[in-house]
Amino acid sequence: MNFHSLRTPETQLDFKTVLFQGLSPDGSLFVPESLPKLDSKRLTQMESLHRVATTVLAPFIPDIEEAKLHALLEKAWDFPIPLQTLDDDLFLIEEFHGPTLAFKDLGARFMAAMMDHYLEKEGRKVTILVATSGDTGSAVAHGFFGAKNIDVFVLYPSGKVSPLQEKQMTTLGGNITAIEVTGNFDDCQALVKQALQDAELVSKLGLTTANSINMGRLLPQIVFYVWAWVQWETSGGLYDPTPPSIVVPSGNFGNLTACLYAKEMGIPIGPVVAATNANRVVPDYIRTGEYDPKPTLHTHSSAMDVGDPSNWTRIAHLFEEDWARMRSAIHAVTVPDNQTLKEIKDTLDRTGILLDPHTAVGVYAARNLKDRPAFVAATAHPAKFPEVIKAATGKEFDMPEALAKIAGGEKQSVTMENDYAAWRTFLEARV
Ligand SMILES: *Cc1c(COP(=O)(O)O)cnc(C)c1O
Repeated sequence: MNFHSLRTPETQLDFKTVLFQGLSPDGSLFVPESLPKLDSKRLTQMESLHRVATTVLAPFIPDIEEAKLHALLEKAWDFPIPLQTLDDDLFLIEEFHGPTLAFKDLGARFMAAMMDHYLEKEGRKVTILVATSGDTGSAVAHGFFGAKNIDVFVLYPSGKVSPLQEKQMTTLGGNITAIEVTGNFDDCQALVKQALQDAELVSKLGLTTANSINMGRLLPQIVFYVWAWVQWETSGGLYDPTPPSIVVPSGNFGNLTACLYAKEMGIPIGPVVAATNANRVVPDYIRTGEYDPKPTLHTHSSAMDVGDPSNWTRIAHLFEEDWARMRSAIHAVTVPDNQTLKEIKDTLDRTGILLDPHTAVGVYAARNLKDRPAFVAATAHPAKFPEVIKAATGKEFDMPEALAKIAGGEKQSVTMENDYAAWRTFLEARV
């Protein structure tokens, strides 16, 4: 199974190439040339997440033996992705049991495992640079922590990330270096960009990035929806002939792309629902046919605050740019902040389960849906958003142990002026 960029479809590339390139040199995203068909019946005979994940991913990565891929997956995903009952006919696909308690961990851990595998074989090392305003940086730091052939530098704006986010980036040590830049997020991004355009530095350090649009992060997310369906089927869902609808709280629409891929690969999934916050470019597009990106609005579900979703071109490509097909394949719902807060409170009162604000957007959309059963992608643990939880419920909750440990860890960071020359000298001294 090969890949090509959206702008240069005639050039076929293998997984390893798109993994290390991230974004195509022509500036567009990579997509699979086609999607393999899965034998859903065979999948229901598999007992483990890792067996299912291997079966889903192997056709995309034919150069790695299945036994090796299975071993890499077991190591990268040493936590479950359970399907949890919320109400009678509503379920949560808990995608947040990774090290920073959000679903981006799972893509980052898989991507790191794949890169490290190839680098090990070639006796090569790379250096990854990431600029972050908080969340992506911690997922990448934890995803790549311990990779033998990869050094990671995370640049974040000093004093402008939440204390917990800062701890998640600065307490690891080892191959992860946190750099606290005296400046804002755009300055961090500019320092990373300039280094990546510095040919001498790039070749000396093997510089690359770990962008969220990387195929190595998107492909493993297909597994969430396949595995959820397998758990449903093998736990008695079989007796309900209605395929589950799936609701995905969406920002850059990577997770929704993965869900649509799973359906396209033959998993019996009912209606697919994109739930957004007030950043409603996609719901508006589905309704009107006009794609009109907007400036980003700030909401309680901040990881979904995206005015121009980067993965939308992949979805448009999947449906051959045909609005009518997109309209019939995707229901899109926009949920305002006041409903998000109310959903957190109502769900807690009704079920005793605490939702994070992103998952609450999805659950609200699901409750207003006729199609049942419905699975909602639960994208983060509520403990990551104590302020929103307090605003919704009036209560404070204990941190889970894993997070408390990070919060209590010792911060180690390098302070850096917003100055390219200093940053370059620092990087050069690391080789
Ligand atoms: C990134 C993120 C999302 C949005 O996912 P996309 O793939 O960008 O649509 C939703 N919830 C949480 C908690 C996230 O971190």
